[in-house]
Amino acid sequence: MNTDGKVDADDLTAMLCYLVTQNQQIGETADLNNDQQINARDLSLLKQKIMAAAKTAEQQQTAAQEQPQQQEQQPVQLAAGQWYNTANTSWINGRKVVAISFDDGPVTGTSASRIQDALTKQGFHATFFYWGSKINSGNENEIREAEKRGFEVANHTWTHPKLTEKDNNTILSEYNQTKDKLNSILGVNRDYLLRPPYLAVDDKVKNMIPSPLINCGIDSGDWNKATTQQMIDKIQAAANNGTLNGQVVLMHETYDTTAAAVEQLCPWLAEHGYAIVTVSEMFKYNNKDMFKGNVYNNCF
Ligand SMILES: [Zn+2]
Repeated sequence: MNTDGKVDADDLTAMLCYLVTQNQQIGETADLNNDQQINARDLSLLKQKIMAAAKTAEQQQTAAQEQPQQQEQQPVQLAAGQWYNTANTSWINGRKVVAISFDDGPVTGTSASRIQDALTKQGFHATFFYWGSKINSGNENEIREAEKRGFEVANHTWTHPKLTEKDNNTILSEYNQTKDKLNSILGVNRDYLLRPPYLAVDDKVKNMIPSPLINCGIDSGDWNKATTQQMIDKIQAAANNGTLNGQVVLMHETYDTTAAAVEQLCPWLAEHGYAIVTVSEMFKYNNKDMFKGNVYNNCF
């Protein structure tokens, strides 16, 4: 309307002046509905246009603010097998930390999304050890979603064998097949922390696996039919007696009982000064390095 090349509130003013006084210079594009007249209908259309543009701008701004902080967990080992850890820990803000970790996904049921949502609701992160051969086109989006939410994607082998019963080549290919699958899903090239199935480790496994091995200091027992309340009691008891801070906790994302426990534990831990963090975040936060082939149950 005022021919400055933008459609904004100034154009509304210009059109209003024109309609009232009929002597204001106004652009030909003011006839928005092309009916050869410039009148109140065009004013109304202009108002709708400007409001829609404002809404789009607002949505773009919100989307930009909601962009997840991408962790630059990078691939390679540093000298002497040191794990390259660039986890961002600034969000933890001096709280006590526990790395609750979840095995055996991805899953097709709702337990995994319940766990992800309960964590996100408190701003928490966790590490998910994925079972490679379970990944399919119907559930692989769970892995992308985990990455997007700032969780740590990790490796739980391809076929979930007892690695201690396998030969060297099989041990390495169990790790590599899942690594390659995760890399292709996430469009990255990196190594991943490994949780050995059944926590089974020996010197052969330690020599063959090119990343740190993450077992646990606290086993929730969900795999052994622990109830939701038993899992909650175990974690709360550890928090109350001072042994939870710095622990790796073992859980499985495959059970609804576990999802229910996590839904109750997240707000409880938040109230009691804890942050649930990824394994890499917990080590970074405590200034502890991890090394290839070493087994970690906590970062004491
Ligand atoms: Zn497992």
